[in-house]
Amino acid sequence: MSLLSKSELNASEIAQVKHLIERHRSEGESFKAMGDWRSAMRSYLSLIPYLDKLYGMDSLECANGFIGLGECSICIGEIEGAEEAFNQVLKVRESKEFGGLGLGSKEEAAQAREYLARLKEKQGQLVRARALRARGEKDKSMRCSNMKCTKSLLRREALNACSGCRCAFYCSTECQFDWSRHKAPCKENGAAAKTLMAA
Ligand SMILES: [Zn+2]
Ligand SMILES: [Zn+2]
Repeated sequence: MSLLSKSELNASEIAQVKHLIERHRSEGESFKAMGDWRSAMRSYLSLIPYLDKLYGMDSLECANGFIGLGECSICIGEIEGAEEAFNQVLKVRESKEFGGLGLGSKEEAAQAREYLARLKEKQGQLVRARALRARGEKDKSMRCSNMKCTKSLLRREALNACSGCRCAFYCSTECQFDWSRHKAPCKENGAAAKTLMAA
C-alpha cells in the first residue's frame, strides 16, 4: 500500500481517512470488549497505517493505536510485538529527559511507563520494571501500578511498594487487588529482584 503524506491529501481524502480510522478503531474496541484479541489485533494493524498517514508515526494519535495493538499482543502472548508497540508509545510520550519526544502530558508519560513495566514483569525483569516506574519520582509524576486507578501524578511517598518484590507501587489496599495480574511475575521473580536491589 503506498500512502500519501497528509500534505498531499485533499479535504475529501482526509475525511475518508478519518472515516476509516474511526471504523477500524471502533471495530478494534468491540473485538476487545468481546475478548477476541486476534480480531482486535487485526483491526489495530489496519488502523495504524491510517493514523500514520494523517498524523505521522511519531504522533500521540498513532501512539494510541499502538496501545491498542500492544494490549492485544500481550493477550495472545506475542510479547515481542507488544514490546515494539509499547516502546513506540514510550518514545512519543516520554519526556526528553529520558530520551522521548515529550509529546504527551506527564500522566500520559507515566501511563506509557506502566505499560512497558508490566511487560518487563512478564519477561521476568522486575528491576527494570521498577526503574521505569521510578522515573517519575523526581518530578512527582509516578502512577499507581493498578492500571484501573484513576489517580495520577503521585509522589513516591503516596505509594506503597509491593512487599513481595518492591518493584510495583500501589496507592491503596484496593489497588493492590491488581494482585491477580501481578501475582505470577511477583512469585516467580519477586524475591530475587528484592535481593538484587538490597545488594
Ligand atoms: Zn510484587
Ligand atoms: Zn491506585
